[in-house]
Amino acid sequence: MKQTPETSGNIATCLNCIDGRIQFPVLNWIKICYGIPFVDMITEPGIVNIFPNDNEHAKSSLFESTLEKVKISLNIHDSDIIFLVGHDDCAGNPESPQVQENQIKKSVRNLKNQIKDINPSCKVIGLWVPLEKDLFYDSSLKERYLEKNLADVDIVKNIKIILEL
Ligand SMILES: [Zn+2]
Repeated sequence: MKQTPETSGNIATCLNCIDGRIQFPVLNWIKICYGIPFVDMITEPGIVNIFPNDNEHAKSSLFESTLEKVKISLNIHDSDIIFLVGHDDCAGNPESPQVQENQIKKSVRNLKNQIKDINPSCKVIGLWVPLEKDLFYDSSLKERYLEKNLADVDIVKNIKIILEL
């Protein structure tokens, strides 16, 4: 007999960029806004741009590999909420915020469609993380940020939802 999962509501799945500037902020934002203590983090550079259009049959191996990781998080960890994150100044996806916003919307719809057989009620939420890049390349701020965790606070308050399905 399959045991009732005890993890429901405790774990979220997050498809995030590899960018180190947004890891803690995104984790904290999920914890604060959704009361979820643990996050399965799946990272690729510019991850909002790896999802093919719904009408394209050809899927990249990177997309397939990412989708397999999502399925593990949903099936084994019983996650029922997925976040997909884009951000300013992205090395892996150097597009404008406007272009990335459209990529995020497209990818959220695609992902929702891809996981409907596993859990049709699973939420998929696209996030945008604004960054002031000068702030992060100013070395004098390093100590302040490490000690006070201000980077988290500064960025977390500006994270916004692009699309929720
Ligand atoms: Zn990035």
